[in-house]
Amino acid sequence: AYDPARRLAKLQVQIERAVVNARMIYALLDLQPQQREVADAADLVVTEARVELKNVSFAYGDGAAILKGVDIVAEGGKTTALVGPSGAGKSTIIALIPRFYDPTEGAILIDGQDIAKVTKTSLRRQLAYVSQQPYLFEGSIRDNIRYGRPEATDVEIEDAARLAHAHDFILAQPKGYDTPVGENGITLSGGQRQRLSIARALVRNAPILLLDEATSALDNESEAAVQKALDVAMKDRTVIVVAHRLSTVVKADRIVVMNEGQVMEQGTHEELANRKDGLYARLNNLQASPIEAPATED
Ligand code: ADP
Ligand code: MG
Repeated sequence: AYDPARRLAKLQVQIERAVVNARMIYALLDLQPQQREVADAADLVVTEARVELKNVSFAYGDGAAILKGVDIVAEGGKTTALVGPSGAGKSTIIALIPRFYDPTEGAILIDGQDIAKVTKTSLRRQLAYVSQQPYLFEGSIRDNIRYGRPEATDVEIEDAARLAHAHDFILAQPKGYDTPVGENGITLSGGQRQRLSIARALVRNAPILLLDEATSALDNESEAAVQKALDVAMKDRTVIVVAHRLSTVVKADRIVVMNEGQVMEQGTHEELANRKDGLYARLNNLQASPIEAPATED
């Protein structure tokens, strides 16, 4: 724990994650530098909010292939959990859906429409993103929730905060919803920050929720509050979750087990846990929770 090099490496990873989270939020707000949009792009029309990855391969820049021929169907209104060892490509899959990056091969379809061929505004309007290593912007608590949908009214912001089990702790702050957070503001606990990021997603009210679960544990009380908030956010939405907690995985309608950029197996918890020689059964036996093999970064 006192090894300075290790601590520095850990800090570096944390900074990179914060940058990625901020970029994802910016991407969803369409503040990201424009990525290619086809000339005659139509608006995405969402009916079921079914997300399909068809033979998706991907590499960062000129690097090695990170995803190799990935086929995943996330059914509308259902929860699909991505599990697997660190580095398997789970977060990369999440980043492809708002077109933060584009696949090098294959396609991603939402309700049958290729996301590379629709307007980005119409695509991103349908998506919300919650990272449980939440990013707070400089500004008030209210501003931070409003980033989910800039035109949201104060009433809508408070409704979202109530649903996210955040309203009470917000009112307990010195200036309530006007309390500044971020670098120059008050310090919130991990669980409070997570609930703000969930409120931000709820105010967005998008049919597809992308969720990257944190590996770091909260204390039991925060954990329970965050879990309740997430249950609200996940209800009746298509959820694609990078899952680290066994409880999330077990509850998912479908589990996709990834390793080295490939889908190893898919199914429900019962199906996969009973496949004794499967990767899922092995990961599952390693430890009750979290499901991801311990990574140096956490
Ligand atoms: P997981 O979420 O399953 O841990 P990731 O999708 O984060 O996996 O990473 C998959 C692989 O892609 C890893 O080898 C990782 O180092 C690499 N990677 C992730 N982000 C980037 C990036 N921005 N540039 C280059 N390589 C990256
Ligand atoms: Mg990840």
